[in-house]
Amino acid sequence: MIHEPLTLFCYADLSGQVRGKGFPTRLLDKRLKSGIGWTPTNLMFTALGTIAPSPWGPHGDLTLMPDPATKVEVDFEDGAPAERFFLCDVTQTDGSPWDCCPRTALKTAVEDLRRETGIVLRTTFEHEFVYSGAETRPGDMYGLGAIRRHGAFGETFLAALHAAGLEVDSYLPEFGSGQFEVTLPPVEALAACDQAVILKEIARATAHRLGHRVTFAPRVTPDGLGSGVHIHFSLWTEDGEPISFDPERPFGVSDKAGSFLAGVIRHMPALCAFTAPTAISYLRLKPKTWTGVWSNLGYHDREAGIRICPVFGPHKKTARQFNFEYRAADATANPYLQLATIIQAGLSGLRDGLATPQPTSGVDPETLDEAERNARGIRRLPSSADEALAALEADTAAGSFLTPALTEAYLANKRAELDLTREWSPEELCNRYAAVY
Ligand code: GLU
Ligand code: MG
Repeated sequence: MIHEPLTLFCYADLSGQVRGKGFPTRLLDKRLKSGIGWTPTNLMFTALGTIAPSPWGPHGDLTLMPDPATKVEVDFEDGAPAERFFLCDVTQTDGSPWDCCPRTALKTAVEDLRRETGIVLRTTFEHEFVYSGAETRPGDMYGLGAIRRHGAFGETFLAALHAAGLEVDSYLPEFGSGQFEVTLPPVEALAACDQAVILKEIARATAHRLGHRVTFAPRVTPDGLGSGVHIHFSLWTEDGEPISFDPERPFGVSDKAGSFLAGVIRHMPALCAFTAPTAISYLRLKPKTWTGVWSNLGYHDREAGIRICPVFGPHKKTARQFNFEYRAADATANPYLQLATIIQAGLSGLRDGLATPQPTSGVDPETLDEAERNARGIRRLPSSADEALAALEADTAAGSFLTPALTEAYLANKRAELDLTREWSPEELCNRYAAVY
């Protein structure tokens, strides 16, 4: 059959959905310069197939401008069309920044942090997902047999990630039925977000070619376990020296990292509106599920809002490995906005010279009395998307982490999506979101 290679220019929208427009690949050189047309109201698509009230209505035009560094071309050599796409900034038609572009919001946060403090973040997004083609059985967690019985998926996925230019750190069968996890090595913030988007699309593309699907939804059933997105980060100088670790200080948390973390923790309830933004996010964020329901810094604790992660191997490597993990996050969010708002919150902590939060170690914040929690700045994170959006509205500083237009559009979009879900049972939430993510 004849075929014309097709390339798509795309972006991750407010729900993390990847959307864009295509053209014949032979016109790529021209398109790399000109981009492709886009419409402001497209930002108001919800993940559930509706359009939230749009401040732009039918008016205006924009451009999807590709970043050549994000080129993905993966031929699975199965005779089916290759995956060919680029990730884009959404710009004005003259190429100047659009104040509602999520990727631009991240670039702004990265640049604010660098300019004001000389600090560069290194990040990786750890993803869990469920593969429909896995032949599952009880007791499969971390099982060698689980890898064997999920067939060609794992190796094809890893090969496709490699072909897309992504290095893989680890791949494993997770705790849930048919659940797997993939982690990439840390890189600078923008590349980490681009990779998070590419990784999920490549997982979907791989499953599709095998006649199955993957879902990154935070829950596939109301009971059992969820799929999280754990956002790892560490602080570095512009010259590439690690600055998160200080062996002289409690738990090794440097003064600078402590201020950054204190800023994140101060704004964490509001940040949940960006990191865990949907109704189904709160089916996952429950106590005793290895997620993160408190705004605590926890030493080697998988139920901390932010975990101080372990390091492995010789001590001289400690400073380069030392990192923190934000756990109250999932894949119904936009990764650029997740990280942009975490960076802005951390930067606010650095600006204010906040003291390092007192970490918890071997203790569930639930068991501390309220006075003790207050003394450590530990608050219960929102337990619903409504609470998360209200926390964002109540936190005026967090309300200015993004441009006013983007914050306003974001809130309108999330409200509209949340309103659609109000009558849905937990089962229906799971089914609907598993279909979309
Ligand atoms: N599946 C858990 C979550 O929803 C995390 C398990 C783990 O620590 O890797 O975040
Ligand atoms: Mg995991």
